[in-house]
Amino acid sequence: MNQYDVVVIGSGPGGYVGAIRAAQLGLKTAIVERYNTLGGTCLNVGCIPSKALLDSSEHYHQAVHTFAEHGIDLKSAPKINLPQMIARKQGVVDQTTKGIDFLMKKNKIDVYHGHGSFVDARTVAITKDDGSVEQIGAKNVIIATGSKPASLPFINIDKKRVITSTEALKLDEVPKHMIIIGGGVIGLELGSVYGRLGSQISVVEYMDSIIPTMDRTMGKELQKSLKKIGFDFYLSHKVKEVTAKGKTVTVKADNAKGEELVLEGDYVLVAVGRRPYTDNLGLDKAGVKMDERGRVEVDNHLQTNVAGIYAIGDVVKGAMLAHKAEEEGTFVAEVIAGQKPHINYNLIPGVVYTWPEVASVGYTEEQLKADGTPYKVGSFPFKASGRARASMDTDGLIKVLAHKETDEILGVHMIGPRCADMIAEAVVAMEFRASAEDIARISHAHPTFTESFREAALDATDKRAIHI
Ligand code: FAD
Ligand code: NAD
Repeated sequence: MNQYDVVVIGSGPGGYVGAIRAAQLGLKTAIVERYNTLGGTCLNVGCIPSKALLDSSEHYHQAVHTFAEHGIDLKSAPKINLPQMIARKQGVVDQTTKGIDFLMKKNKIDVYHGHGSFVDARTVAITKDDGSVEQIGAKNVIIATGSKPASLPFINIDKKRVITSTEALKLDEVPKHMIIIGGGVIGLELGSVYGRLGSQISVVEYMDSIIPTMDRTMGKELQKSLKKIGFDFYLSHKVKEVTAKGKTVTVKADNAKGEELVLEGDYVLVAVGRRPYTDNLGLDKAGVKMDERGRVEVDNHLQTNVAGIYAIGDVVKGAMLAHKAEEEGTFVAEVIAGQKPHINYNLIPGVVYTWPEVASVGYTEEQLKADGTPYKVGSFPFKASGRARASMDTDGLIKVLAHKETDEILGVHMIGPRCADMIAEAVVAMEFRASAEDIARISHAHPTFTESFREAALDATDKRAIHI
């Protein structure tokens, strides 16, 4: 039986990054993955393919809606070649997952393909596709088995008409009317893909706002922008029935007053969150406890109740984000190697890759109010930015929340062009505990979208934004 210092179960961004960091630290490392390709949800059916389709559909949308105004006349109206769009996406995925194979080789990490399960706290069995079983021994095990789409008890996901994000990434036709249950990140990103390609999109959301966990201003602004591309929103609606008959799907929901909404479409995308995945992992054989929500329970060092067994990423508490999983992979490898790493969970940014993009870090205004923290708000609309006008991307704003007395930046919430990339400046500023005035006094190249962050910081400092 091969023996390792570290065996990682699951090769998503948590698992593969943890394995690489462990190998960098001189630990003999193996990774176990039940699928044929490495990279987990994120690389195969999550972050990467969704962004590939978001980029393609955005190009199409621009060609149809803004090229003429830019002075670009196309000979004929652009047409969608969906099979090619899906094939390009798959090409991006294949390239990216192959990259992980390379990284495993480079770092001398042994890769085992097959379903991993605990035999006991120090032994992992790998059941391969051909039914054979191999056992490996480990001083430390990192559980990085991720998550799967969640559903509602009365919904039958037939994967044809009633689908999850996984199927939505490989449809063979553009839906006429896609009904989306859940106005969270997946619903709005994949809704954007098909909305831009011409589908009618109806979003049914249980809460009174879309992206309800983000700062409320973001949901309001995003809703306005998505309505412009034809989204219909049914907020404060509780879905109670989903049926599929032939090519028709019907969704019934009640609003807060008990009035019934009936929607008919050709696809229903169920996007109501994801659940931690621990099926057939044999946690009981290792004696590992789960919490009340089916997640692997961990302490502040991401160690389970069993010494030497750790868990990271979507399978434990916290935001289900690839970069959170990566941080945790690195953290655990360093803990195992005897180091004392740290993660500041409050400064893990969240991004929604719609257009305009939404990006956020730190406290929301609602959290500061609830905590009774004295704060001030500065904001700057992109319509006042020369760079945004040049690119015709004037929707949205940047909001800076700073402590009323100390001026320390407590939260930054952006909706607008390239906010996914711009949020990094806010994260760096907050890691260094910058004040709003610090940002206001730093030169930002002109003309760039980043000037809007400085303007919002000037507005927060003492209401002295220059361009509003
Ligand atoms: P996963 O990536 O889920 O990987 C777990 C791996 O473990 C899988 O490969 C699985 O096959 C394997 N596994 C499970 N059980 C076993 C077992 N017993 N034996 C062997 N292998 C096993 N996050 C972002 O930050 N940015 C985004 O833009 C983004 N976009 C997304 C878009 C979509 C459509 C979806 C669905 C998710 C998106 N996410 C995004 C979330 C992101 O994918 C997850 O947060 C991230 O993948 C979690 O990483 P992980 O390593 O914990 O688990
Ligand atoms: P989510 O938690 O973002 O959104 C789910 C939405 O469904 C919520 O707004 C919720 O109120 C709503 N909902 C729940 N039950 C409902 C019901 N019965 N009827 C109507 N609405 C209901 O989850 P998601 O969009 O499925 O995404 C899953 C995870 O994947 C998220 O945690 C997210 O972090 C991650 N993800 C991240 C990105 C990104 O970082 N850009 C992209 C996609 C997915």
